[in-house]
Amino acid sequence: MTSSPAAQRSVPFNQLKPGVDAVRAELDAAIARVLDSGRFLMGPELERFEHAFAAYHSPEVRAAGVGSGTDAITIALRALGMQPGDEVLVPANAGVPPVAATVAAGCVPVFCEVDPRTHALDPGALQDLVSSPPQATLRPRAVLVVHLYGQPAQIDTLAQIAHATGLKVVEDCAQAHGATLSSRKVGTFGDAAAFSFYPTKNLGALGDGGAVLSRDPAVAERAKRLRMYGWRERYRSEEHGTVSRLSELQAALLGVKLRHLDRWNAARRRVAQRYRARLEGVVELLPPEGVFHLFVIRSAQRDALKAFLRERGVGTDVHYPLPAHLQVPYARYGRGSGSLPITEQLAHDVLSLPMYPELSDDDVDYVAEQVRAFAARHGA
Ligand SMILES: *Cc1c(COP(=O)(O)O)cnc(C)c1O
Repeated sequence: MTSSPAAQRSVPFNQLKPGVDAVRAELDAAIARVLDSGRFLMGPELERFEHAFAAYHSPEVRAAGVGSGTDAITIALRALGMQPGDEVLVPANAGVPPVAATVAAGCVPVFCEVDPRTHALDPGALQDLVSSPPQATLRPRAVLVVHLYGQPAQIDTLAQIAHATGLKVVEDCAQAHGATLSSRKVGTFGDAAAFSFYPTKNLGALGDGGAVLSRDPAVAERAKRLRMYGWRERYRSEEHGTVSRLSELQAALLGVKLRHLDRWNAARRRVAQRYRARLEGVVELLPPEGVFHLFVIRSAQRDALKAFLRERGVGTDVHYPLPAHLQVPYARYGRGSGSLPITEQLAHDVLSLPMYPELSDDDVDYVAEQVRAFAARHGA
């Protein structure tokens, strides 16, 4: 394609290799340590990482490593005492995992509208749902708050509303490792928090991984039982559990990467600031807070903009094109098309631009220039 006369630049949506290359010697040493140890599951690397990950957040929390972010949500809900059939308030704009995890816990997802500014649960909508529920039978026992795109939700207000009505709060921090609200880390506000270490996340393993965080030691301990057959001790099940372990290898690799997380998040913020300086007033932007797992803009002509950028070598993605309440397996928990107008509008408008810590200034400038060119021709 020769749509532009100059040699065309290519800016991928994401790249994982540069982050690995930057700390390669440390990762190699961690891999060698695990190989030399001859121990591959439930050993000292897991324990060391759990301590480091908890300490990174607060001296008051404990961590339990698990097999994925989705499992972390399921296990967090169960560790907080959710029973089969219990209703859990969830957003529908955060992809399938939060809803799939809720269903996997045996719970019933109840979709809740989001704030068009933060794209996270709207405190007003939560207040309305709990004070004047649409169905008299609604008895939610928990709310799942997703810090979407690395942008902190109004978790202090949401937790206040939830706790005032006896709801448990689970924070989904899969996209927000290291994000803070009033200098307090997300994941420390709720009754429990779930993290994913999927390779593309701000803190990513080289495979699957996840963690549950809680201020309540009993909840963290229960999460540790639930991740392995509900064992209290070897071969003695106290309750029905699953198998969802974080391996020694992934724990060792994550221990290395955790030491670089703040630096990588700072680099993401610099990329975001540069985008913002060039796109303010051109397209709709999210607030400047957070750790920018993704850099998301809104455009009424999203699909045309996406195609325009693709022609100019710019990779983009959409998070997420189809809300959970309109997906085949979960539609039965919702009230159909039109029931969540803000969520549905966002699914139509959002576009994620290239974002990773090593993205160069020149690449950011090029991407922003193409977005501006589109807006000049077609409007935003
Ligand atoms: C990635 C993600 C998850 C699931 O994590 P996995 O490790 O892929 O299971 C859950 N919630 C959100 C918001 C995510 O982005």
